Amino acid sequence: MSHSKPPLVAVSACLLGQKVRYDGKDKYTQLIAEELKKHCQLLAVCPEVEIGLGVPRAKIQLTQIEQTIRVLRKDDPQIDLTDLFTDFTFKFACQHNLAGLVLQDRSPSCGMENTQLYSQHGDIVGLASGLFTSTMRELKPDLVIIQASQLQSKQDIASFVSSILSKQ
Ligand code: SF4
Repeated sequence: MSHSKPPLVAVSACLLGQKVRYDGKDKYTQLIAEELKKHCQLLAVCPEVEIGLGVPRAKIQLTQIEQTIRVLRKDDPQIDLTDLFTDFTFKFACQHNLAGLVLQDRSPSCGMENTQLYSQHGDIVGLASGLFTSTMRELKPDLVIIQASQLQSKQDIASFVSSILSKQ
């Protein structure tokens, strides 16, 4: 019988201590970097860096344009990064045999239903998921996806891990 490998979980790289945020900072979260790591193989991913944005970088935002949500540069809405995000996410989803995703809250890339959505006039019109998250959900509907804010204790980690294992 082959020895099964720990499940592969992609994690927003800033949560693992990589200084990849737009402002050059990280969002290191010990519970994820150390406790989750005991149970899963962690794969750091920063979609904004992967599509070629530097650190530090201009802020980007989700913008509602008719029926679609686009990712535009905040200081220059002519710069539309949506297709770069979807192309990267498609490749990423095909490349890795992921069992789960742990994502940073409120990010235009990694947020899950808690990222501010703007109108073309710059008003906040609601909340939506970041583009990496929404595209991953479409491509891999069975993937167990959780936000960092939902992992507050060892018990939260244990139930996330067991929901992953129950789908394997
Ligand atoms: S939230 Fe996502 S896109 Fe933003 S810095 Fe962290 S990993 Fe990168």
